[in-house]
Amino acid sequence: MKANELKKDIMEQGAIVQRDRETYAIAPHLPGGITDTATLRKLADIGDKYGCKLVKVTSAQRIALVGLREEDLEKTWEELGMDKGAAIGLCVRSVKICPGLDFCKRAKQDSVGIGLKLDSKYHGMALPNKLKIGVSGCPNSCAESAVKDIGIIGTSNGFKVLVGGNAGSQPRIADMIYEGKTGEEVLDIVDSIITLFRNTARKGQRLSKFTDKIGADNLIRYVDAPAGDKEKILDEIRQLNSEN
Ligand code: SF4
Repeated sequence: MKANELKKDIMEQGAIVQRDRETYAIAPHLPGGITDTATLRKLADIGDKYGCKLVKVTSAQRIALVGLREEDLEKTWEELGMDKGAAIGLCVRSVKICPGLDFCKRAKQDSVGIGLKLDSKYHGMALPNKLKIGVSGCPNSCAESAVKDIGIIGTSNGFKVLVGGNAGSQPRIADMIYEGKTGEEVLDIVDSIITLFRNTARKGQRLSKFTDKIGADNLIRYVDAPAGDKEKILDEIRQLNSEN
């Protein structure tokens, strides 16, 4: 790199350049933000070793080590022995999970069980744009499910599934497309939504814009279709999405 060139994020190191344009933050993957004291000690010890200036708990339920030097990134990851959190890039960025039935007295459904299954299947999967998932165990929605691309909310009658939420520069409350679903049904629904989005959205198109373009009814039509009809509907939706 030339001396006066500004540093940039380093995708392969999962490293985000900081405001000083000199140091980096990294955020190991902590599924659902659930961890143990041994991991916290390891993060602290390795952070100390490599001169970490600050520790930040992120909105994606990760713990970021901030202020690392570029030349130390590889060694830091090696010694941590943890997966990189998908904090940047066009992919499934995070699955935010509330404590649910495991810990919360208000929980109606098992948000942690569903959330961890989704995390292990989709975290980091390449997509046309970033995609965030929130899984809450009751309508209080502590995982902010209504402003996630895919939101799941437990009720006394099963799960609700929402699509198209966004809390960014153009905030949008997600549309509720299903309610009263079992955990297994939720997993199938999410799988269909992600398959449709991955195969028919345009690069840079967020799930909210995609849903607005094709219409939530078409998205539901695809999700509900028997396996043998899905390919045909997918082609129709791709065509619809490509029209101006
Ligand atoms: S969403 Fe409900 S179950 Fe989850 S932490 Fe909040 S109050 Fe508890």
